[in-house]
Amino acid sequence: MDFSPASRGGAFGARKSSKTGDIGGVLPERSFNAESMGSPARKSSDDGAMNDGDRWKFCVVLGAQWGDEGKGKLVDILAQDAQVCARFNGGANAGHTLVVDGRKYAFHLMPCGIINRSCKNLIGNGVACHLPTLMKELEQLKEFDPRAVERVFISTRTHLLVDSHQLIDGILEAEASSHSIGTTKRGIGPCYSSKSIRNGLRFADLLHFETFEARLRELIKWSQKRFGEEGEADQPSQQLLRKCLREYNTRKAFDPEHGARGGVGSLEEEIERYRQFSQMLRHQIVDSVTFIHEEIMRGNRVLVEGANAALLDIDFGTYPFVTSSNTTIGGVCTGLGVPPKVIDNIVGVVKAYTTRVGNGPFPSELQNERQDLADFAGEYIGEALTIERKGDTRGPYGLSTGDVVKVGEMLQEVGHEYGTTTGRRRRCGWLDIPLVKYSAMVNGFHSISITKLDVLTGLKEIRIAVAYRSVDMTEVRLPSGYFPSHLEDLKKVVCEYETVQGWKEDISKCRRFADLPAGAKRYVLRIQELVGVPVSSVGVGPDRNDVLVL
Ligand code: GDP
Repeated sequence: MDFSPASRGGAFGARKSSKTGDIGGVLPERSFNAESMGSPARKSSDDGAMNDGDRWKFCVVLGAQWGDEGKGKLVDILAQDAQVCARFNGGANAGHTLVVDGRKYAFHLMPCGIINRSCKNLIGNGVACHLPTLMKELEQLKEFDPRAVERVFISTRTHLLVDSHQLIDGILEAEASSHSIGTTKRGIGPCYSSKSIRNGLRFADLLHFETFEARLRELIKWSQKRFGEEGEADQPSQQLLRKCLREYNTRKAFDPEHGARGGVGSLEEEIERYRQFSQMLRHQIVDSVTFIHEEIMRGNRVLVEGANAALLDIDFGTYPFVTSSNTTIGGVCTGLGVPPKVIDNIVGVVKAYTTRVGNGPFPSELQNERQDLADFAGEYIGEALTIERKGDTRGPYGLSTGDVVKVGEMLQEVGHEYGTTTGRRRRCGWLDIPLVKYSAMVNGFHSISITKLDVLTGLKEIRIAVAYRSVDMTEVRLPSGYFPSHLEDLKKVVCEYETVQGWKEDISKCRRFADLPAGAKRYVLRIQELVGVPVSSVGVGPDRNDVLVL
């Protein structure tokens, strides 16, 4: 196999052949073919199908921005061709919905290869696994595949996230009050803390149940001592959670105001629940290092799905507004026990604009959660649209040809940029190239998959943040690929924008790059040129089929 940079269809090839203005004629061949979707060293096939696994052996899909890029769809497609699907990081704070035979499955922990009956699914050692959630997901699947459990494997080294971690998460989140991180209160941070301070529990402990029981009792005692006592400045929700922790009543674990969400009424009940789980999963708890290496040696295709995204990485993200694990490529090696050399395809998922949930600086932001920013006025030239705004007293959101629209608000409404459970709007802004370049640098993407291009349809003009400048020295561009590590420095960043012409035609039926209107082609090509990484697919609508492979 030739792994020279030239054979990889990498940044140089892309940069050389893609010109901003060159949209009708020759496409940059190496970058715009199905080969870039797969192992760069393999040959492309005639049909250009994205799920042709021959082109990769070990493929990693990672979020390139602040999350919610639409990784699920891509992973879902690629999983049809994988023999192993693995998770390496995070916990039940991410997840996606899959529709199979008209039925919806919501997964937070389960790798999405579970839907492919010939695919094994691995929960790697880097995951913080709340076992009751995983068991619920397995229960959901019984109708689809009564033997689904036999295809789920969990590393002996995976840490168990127990309900006390969730209670602690809630207590800490309320304590942080105005500068809260905005966690999902599912206990991920406290579980990784346990891992680091070394009082955590691992799946291997379940195979030695007496040790597990003793260690769980110790952990709970420790947690009660540290977090169970009421503080003077406690919020009512904290008082309630501390009481739950003291009594180890976890039925209200991460939603104290809205009642029961599962959980247990006592520590004894918790131990009993885990005893049953350990018996049910005895054969599924495996030494994942030998497991995955055997699969690789047999020549089986491994698909790795990343949870969260680059700018939420504990090291490289916008600290402290980050998740508690490594979401970037290094996490794949430490979270699964594989060396870098086995990874032959890294795909970064990039939304065609930028979104961010929660607090922290956002250089290209147009509109926030409360919708009270000045926003950017742009002309809408697309077809008339009416979009339902669930639970919003203002009624549906409407767009008519010729309207002057608030672009950030349009991205929120047309892109359905709000949390499915919380209904909270995501902050929205123009595509931020410096951020994506930084993410591409850290991750070494072989290609990028652009999602939600259709959401920009109808904007007469689209802006792209092409570089950062510092407000203190506006004449100077910050170095390419540099992303400030301190929030105070990120706050001082101003974006340099470039404006490109948009398109008015509906693109959701386009299935080939050639079908796209000129403006859409130009936008995709410009992203490829600016990031310096080939684009391998473009999402043109929410459905699994609404994608074009390049
Ligand atoms: P993740 O958090 O990155 O895994 O994001 P999801 O996979 O949950 O995707 C978020 C939403 O975006 C889902 O409702 C998808 O259907 C939707 N989505 C994904 N790709 C596209 C696209 O190309 N266009 C549109 N309009 N929606 C998309």
